[in-house]
Amino acid sequence: MPEVCEGIHRARHVVLDGGRVMENAWLHVEGGRILDVGRGRIPSGLAVTDHGERGLFPCFVNAHTHLELSTLGLVDAEGGFEKWVQRLMEARSGFGPEELILGVREALFAMKAGGTMALGDVTTLGLSEEAIYGSGLGGIVFHESVGNHRQEVLPRKSSEKKPGFSLAGHGPHSTAPGLLLELKHKASACGLPFSIHLAESAGERAFIRGDNPVWASFLDQRGVDHGDWPLPAGSPVRYADTLGILDPATLCVHLVHADIKDIRILADQGCAVCLCPRSNMYLHGMLPDLGTMVAEGIRPCLGTDSPASTPSLSMAHELAFAAGRWAWLDPAFLFNMASLHGAEALGIDMDYGSLTPGKRACFLVAEAGGHHPVADFVALPEIVEVYG
Ligand SMILES: [Zn+2]
Repeated sequence: MPEVCEGIHRARHVVLDGGRVMENAWLHVEGGRILDVGRGRIPSGLAVTDHGERGLFPCFVNAHTHLELSTLGLVDAEGGFEKWVQRLMEARSGFGPEELILGVREALFAMKAGGTMALGDVTTLGLSEEAIYGSGLGGIVFHESVGNHRQEVLPRKSSEKKPGFSLAGHGPHSTAPGLLLELKHKASACGLPFSIHLAESAGERAFIRGDNPVWASFLDQRGVDHGDWPLPAGSPVRYADTLGILDPATLCVHLVHADIKDIRILADQGCAVCLCPRSNMYLHGMLPDLGTMVAEGIRPCLGTDSPASTPSLSMAHELAFAAGRWAWLDPAFLFNMASLHGAEALGIDMDYGSLTPGKRACFLVAEAGGHHPVADFVALPEIVEVYG
């Protein structure tokens, strides 16, 4: 993958973001950042890279992954989500740290080649942090706490081409409520986002409603005392809201089982939302209610989730899948789900998410010969080169 060439990059289309397309336009890159964008006549005295009839697009932001599961590959989901979780944990225990870290490195290489230059990665074992830190990708590495086990990690903001570090709770049904609140407060105190899987599975919803003895005994077996958790509650989202962990800096992932009341709460609290449609179909056979989310003013982003529940970490494939399933959605909005919305959700939109002066010069060169470059791109991105 080429480091970005300084000077002018000209193309038939420059897509600043999903809703702003400039024809016969150029980017002026200096010091690895976008200095200016313009149309028509190119400023004189600068090196010019002409991309011809192709288009320049912002790089992808994959807002939800678990790269330390990459070595496992796709885990069989036959028999339901709980069975998948059990198989996942068994499979993971069969690999040593070096093998899992090798999987992280290979995944990062594939992600960059596929046009993803920033990510939100969730680590439970702490094995992805170092590889991501040296990868050149930006974003946030979330250290995830499960049960009552606290991750003793200090949140830290991102810097030039380096990710930031923050905190995550696994879910409302798996992480103690007091710990969720503590993690949220620590992340907020550092001005960083907090991430949580929310309303992902039917089993999670049933447990929160006080009707999942199988999950309750699973927690018991693992030594997680849930006797004093404030349950039952109406739904995972209502429970999280009652705990006080929902606000614009909370990234709520999945929401497959969020109903209209839940979605209104998320909208009222201004929460960031990440959807992983291919993973949701693989594990749960259904998708979240994106129509209600959009109607309520939520701007979801996209993530692939881990390779244990999706065939690839390709955001191009995730976007094309989303475009096929949600064909009614404005292509500009869909495109932003894979870039700008993710950057906003992770709090890195000062550097990523659009081709705007001041931001990092991370861009894709893709086929865009038609009159509707964004609609063509979301249907089937044909990426030729990645700069960043
Ligand atoms: Zn996840």
